[in-house]
Amino acid sequence: MHELSIAQNIVDILHGQMKIHNLSKIESVSLRVGVLRSVAIESLSFSFHVLTSGSRLEGTRLEVEEVPIRARCMECGQQFTLKNWMDDCPLCRGPRVEITSGKELDIVAIEGD
Ligand SMILES: [Zn+2]
Repeated sequence: MHELSIAQNIVDILHGQMKIHNLSKIESVSLRVGVLRSVAIESLSFSFHVLTSGSRLEGTRLEVEEVPIRARCMECGQQFTLKNWMDDCPLCRGPRVEITSGKELDIVAIEGD
């Protein structure tokens, strides 16, 4: 259940940020999660809710933006979105592609006061 450990990580980071910036609460936290991370967003939201209920983070909104898998063909340079990480280049059918996004797991914004 890696969503639980991801949620725990986020909670730890938020507690740290509250301390550093002297925040009394956090309204929302925005994440960018690459599709290649195979994170079940619902499960992540649920874990976050469970971990924060009864704490100072109760009510903090977790906003998740899913980042599609993007790749660049190493043969012809074409950039494209992959549905499946095994896909070939749609232009030249070259099998050598380099993943350029889809592995993100970042906190991009924290709003609080
Ligand atoms: Zn190509």
